[in-house]
Amino acid sequence: MDTTRANALCRYIDASPSAFHAVETAAAMLEAAGAVRLDERKEWKLQPGKAYCLVRDGASLAAFRLGTEPVQETGFALAGAHTDFPGLRARLEKSVVARGVERVAVEAYGGPIHATWLDRPLSLAGRAVVRGEGGRPESRLVNFNRPVAVIPNLAIHFNREMNKGVEYPMNSALLPLVSARPGTAAPGEAPAQSWALRTLAAELGVAPADILAADLGFVDAAPSFLFGAEGELVSAPRIDNLEGCHAILSAFTASGPARHTQVAVLFDNEEIGSGTARGADSSFLRDLVDRICALAGSGPEAAWRALSRSLNVSVDGAQGWHPSHADKFDEEYAPVLNKGPAIKANANVRYATDALGEAAFRACCEEAGVPCQRFRMRADLVPGSTIGPVSSALLGARTIDVGVPMLAMHAARETAGSFDHDSMISALGVFYARGPELL
Ligand SMILES: [Zn+2]
Repeated sequence: MDTTRANALCRYIDASPSAFHAVETAAAMLEAAGAVRLDERKEWKLQPGKAYCLVRDGASLAAFRLGTEPVQETGFALAGAHTDFPGLRARLEKSVVARGVERVAVEAYGGPIHATWLDRPLSLAGRAVVRGEGGRPESRLVNFNRPVAVIPNLAIHFNREMNKGVEYPMNSALLPLVSARPGTAAPGEAPAQSWALRTLAAELGVAPADILAADLGFVDAAPSFLFGAEGELVSAPRIDNLEGCHAILSAFTASGPARHTQVAVLFDNEEIGSGTARGADSSFLRDLVDRICALAGSGPEAAWRALSRSLNVSVDGAQGWHPSHADKFDEEYAPVLNKGPAIKANANVRYATDALGEAAFRACCEEAGVPCQRFRMRADLVPGSTIGPVSSALLGARTIDVGVPMLAMHAARETAGSFDHDSMISALGVFYARGPELL
């Protein structure tokens, strides 16, 4: 089995330690494939069959390839994923020093599995705003790209019961340890600037006073890798949902023009409910759809006509069958690693899939020659959700929730199947080629 795409996924993940980086890396992939970068503030001139991309607020991205026929007659083939992931965000200014030992204050972003963040090398990445030319705020990407911290566990001798499960409060037990130099400060004495501020300033080559603000998160510093006899398993941080982003980008860039208009959209803030200016529950995608339709010059009804014949796929991780916890699953609906992408459904529409949508995605898998599975949560448990229900409600377009099965979702490092990533890209390739015709 070919692991080229799984290796490319590892490189994408390693180059994307924050939503900001995930978008920059995606934009570079799209531009390398010939997409023209647009600015939301400027006038657009679009040509049929050409690809474009735009970024909103540094952490959400949309790309589209205008159809060769009028959009109101052919509709959109839309696929979306999210760029953010659960983790620990640094409180930049706060010093936490005791007896010369310094830690960084953090808060949780989304719902990380706390215990998985301990005793592993952590790096720091995100976006900083510094005082630029003429005192104007200037945005800079930050990627330390090396271990700078560890969150040490308590020795087992203080809690012989700890293998039965331990609570790790975010404000005390999960503070990353960054420095222990008792000789450099009086016991308990906080330095003038926090470690995060000092270290960020040094990294950016600016004075601490010139750092105006920053959105920084700790991330696993170890690289992604493949394992298994054929490299059939991927171990990486952020598989949820950079796998979805990379699958969509790979399928989109490999696709050629179609009659319909193809859209790829990567949203920030899914892990915190999508309700932000650049999340799936914002105007971003609807603005794009309306703008494309308005520029097509097809009259005021164009967007409504286009959306009524559109098809949308939300790509996000599925809870894979876990061999150590088989009782948590309904075996009939528990997708197994490397047996193909899963179509996710839920009676209360926490996933947007309906029967017609499911049939459409099954047709994509069949045509691509890849297997396909189903995921439904055990009936007495409530599943998570995705951007699917939100974007389907905002667009009024039929939406299907799909994803590759993965283990340890929301852990600092997750596991998925290399072949499933391959299969997802192939299925999305068919989706982009066929689009609304699938209905
Ligand atoms: Zn997700």
